[in-house]
Amino acid sequence: MRCEYLDICPFAGGKMPCDGALLAIYRKHYCLGEYHNCARHLLYAGLGERVLAPHVYPNQHDRARELLGQASQRRTAVLV
Ligand code: SF4
Repeated sequence: MRCEYLDICPFAGGKMPCDGALLAIYRKHYCLGEYHNCARHLLYAGLGERVLAPHVYPNQHDRARELLGQASQRRTAVLV
């Protein structure tokens, strides 16, 4: 299975600092496999493709959930 964000994701495109061997492992595991378990995929799915999140790596699920929570709170604050 191929992640639908593969063409726009800076991590997958090698634009975030990452050792080449580690990048290859992540790409195989997440981008071309279990992309639905990728922290960056969570962000794209929740906030849209324009999210940059240059410091969130595929295995940083806690950070992704934290950012999603912050975005949700901001949206709620605007609506109240
Ligand atoms: S890093 Fe995550 S969001 Fe980016 S292409 Fe790979 S699986 Fe998709």
